[in-house]
Amino acid sequence: MNWEVVIGLEIHAQLSTKSKLFSGAAVGFGAEPNTQTTLVDLGMPGALPVFNKEALRMAVMFGHAVNAEIGMTSIFARKNYFYPDLPKGYQTSQMDDPIVGKGALDITLEDGTVRRIGITRAHLEEDAGKSLHEDFQGMTGIDLNRSSTPLLEIVSEPDIRSAKEAVAYVKMIHSIVTYLGICDGNMAEGSMRCDINLSLRPKGQSEYGTRTEIKNVNSFRFIEKAIYTEIERQADILEDGGKIVQETRLYDPDKNETRSMRSKEDANDYRYFPCPDLLPVELTEEYVEAIRQNLPELPTQKAARFIEQYKLSDYDAGVLSASRSMADYFETLVNKTKDAKLSANWVMGELSKLLNQSQLEIVNSPVSADSFAELLIRIQDNTINGKTAKDVLQSMWDGEGSADEIIEKKGLVQVTDTAAIEAMVQSVIDANSAQVEQFRASEPDKQKKMIGFFMGQVMKASQGKANPGLVTPILQKLLQG
Ligand code: ADP
Ligand code: MG
Repeated sequence: MNWEVVIGLEIHAQLSTKSKLFSGAAVGFGAEPNTQTTLVDLGMPGALPVFNKEALRMAVMFGHAVNAEIGMTSIFARKNYFYPDLPKGYQTSQMDDPIVGKGALDITLEDGTVRRIGITRAHLEEDAGKSLHEDFQGMTGIDLNRSSTPLLEIVSEPDIRSAKEAVAYVKMIHSIVTYLGICDGNMAEGSMRCDINLSLRPKGQSEYGTRTEIKNVNSFRFIEKAIYTEIERQADILEDGGKIVQETRLYDPDKNETRSMRSKEDANDYRYFPCPDLLPVELTEEYVEAIRQNLPELPTQKAARFIEQYKLSDYDAGVLSASRSMADYFETLVNKTKDAKLSANWVMGELSKLLNQSQLEIVNSPVSADSFAELLIRIQDNTINGKTAKDVLQSMWDGEGSADEIIEKKGLVQVTDTAAIEAMVQSVIDANSAQVEQFRASEPDKQKKMIGFFMGQVMKASQGKANPGLVTPILQKLLQG
């Protein structure tokens, strides 16, 4: 059977405020349990919440970034449910009047197609505490440090049609919130988590099928894998004539399967009502406009500028602008080397390879952009060739010193003395007379292919230090005899 996949995502982004959404307690990851709490976060009766203005500013920034309607009057509501890590018995959230209304986001897929994904809304809400099961025998520990941490919940329309589109969408949201500086984007620490709503319908049918919701998936890779397994599970059920149960599921990365957590509750199960402790949030046009004026450059704008200013390809500009830290690294290189193509090639090539191998983010690169630029400048001034530069970079990566120190210490300065190169080429020709004879008897087309062999021999003889630009003409001259 031919199924169409329908996906809508709810992304929780933890806002990078210094203090909590409704109290002055510090926000931070990894502190001793229950040390970052006030009476408000502990849910003490009579303790009154005070709304964090910085969280408001961040939410409005996000709204502008996705061209959304800004809720000029937004209202906090109580979402009532019982759970040990929620001492108040309700989560303060927004229901009917969120801070951010309808917007949209364009995502670019690997093949270059652009898809527009609708944003339904984004609302502010507080996080709950955490239940700790591991260190306790027959008991559960409660840590309320996370309680009242500010979250922006970003809800998409069911416009996503594949796992790849879902990942591209989440990456774009990640890129936007980190560019705006409103979320650190650290998915491993839970700063960004994603709920995946997924249903199938026969191709061509207009009504949506029954969906399931997979909660709290916290990496791009797991989002993709969770979607594939859930599609398979739902298709199996439907093809056997069964029905999908609307429920909340959990993705288990170790078994690569989703499991039922609980049946789906409806909004009215939560008995939402406006929070009497918090006034409606009224915004002025001036306030909203001032935030718009001060927005930083966003990923798509940066990519467009890279294409225009540095003549990069669409693809290169897209990769280099995907994260703000990578874009900054690249631009530091360009400022120092004045060569965008060279800088782009090295960031996307060798540097990305080394980062991947050591599973590091660019902000944690052991080689800073300034030190990297010194290396590229040594390629530009012909001190070393590109091949040697790769070895030098590896040594820099391993902490052996700066580019110049390593070039000096290892004697890697490129040979640019034509007489010395001519001598090396001559010795290669003498040592390979059979190949030389074959070369001289060949058509020009064939010769072009064969020259690589001789080039390789000369580079080997020079221990990689010959300047390839100087070797080529000499090699051609001497090979012709
Ligand atoms: P709830 O508040 O119960 O989670 P919503 O109606 O607000 O439900 O939808 C939450 C998310 O589910 C949205 O991202 C929406 O796009 C998505 N969604 C709704 N219906 C479907 C469906 N049939 N298939 C897939 N996703 C859906
Ligand atoms: Mg939901």
